[in-house]
Amino acid sequence: MTYQYECSEGSCQFLLRSSSSDEVERLVRAHVRMVHNGRIDSTDLKRGTDRIELA
Ligand SMILES: [Zn+2]
Repeated sequence: MTYQYECSEGSCQFLLRSSSSDEVERLVRAHVRMVHNGRIDSTDLKRGTDRIELA
């Protein structure tokens, strides 16, 4: 299973893929903090994270 997060903040092109949902959560939180100077709550994080199957 692969987890993918696409940032929807403004024109941000940030896209993250990982096989670990913990890692996605950690890196997305770091991204939002560093790039957008803000925070993301767990609900938005879960909503923004897709589970994808790579063929
Ligand atoms: Zn972003």
